[in-house]
Amino acid sequence: MLKADFLSEIANTFFPRRCPLCGKTLEKGEVICKECARKIGAVPYVREESKKWFFDAMFFRAPYDGVMGEIVKVYKFSARWSLSTFLADKFMEVLDVFPPPKNSVLTYVPPTFKSLKEKGFDHMKTIAKKVSIKSGVSFRTLLEVKKQRKYQVGLSKEKRKEIVFGKYGVLDDELYKTSGNVVLIDDVFTTGATLNECARVLKISGASSVWVYVLAKV
Ligand SMILES: [Zn+2]
Repeated sequence: MLKADFLSEIANTFFPRRCPLCGKTLEKGEVICKECARKIGAVPYVREESKKWFFDAMFFRAPYDGVMGEIVKVYKFSARWSLSTFLADKFMEVLDVFPPPKNSVLTYVPPTFKSLKEKGFDHMKTIAKKVSIKSGVSFRTLLEVKKQRKYQVGLSKEKRKEIVFGKYGVLDDELYKTSGNVVLIDDVFTTGATLNECARVLKISGASSVWVYVLAKV
């Protein structure tokens, strides 16, 4: 058990826990009430494959515009640690329906320095490690966020956000020695630009396939 999970367990003993979405009192072992959890729905039978992406397949657990999007927001912005296991289970539900290629390695989209500072924790790494344990797909930190490039100076905040080309680097140059199949997980798929860029650099570094799994798709 992670230290933060342990601490939240102690806190929960003294304060009745409420569903972060609807406020209903939670039963023992719950982090989201049954009703809200039910609203997430079944895993959609959608496999996105397109020549326009560098990744080979993309699967999502639920639409962003719904309960899943709300849960992801609560987890990320309120640092509700106890949700990490719940969300890892949601990834597992997708992996069970759409299992990745054999001998894949599992990695995640790393946070920017700013995001890490704001949130206080590497929210996707926490989940990725749990998904790795649950699925048996070995975990590796493969990606890093590169320093802000000079040509971005002077651009508006919005413009900088749009530019993802060259933003990520591959840490593990031993990727060649693995099967080269990468499972890349992230919380939200918005335009797909970030995941596409991560897949691009992974492919340059020798990944033979990149399968993307996300919790919520816009
Ligand atoms: Zn609820």
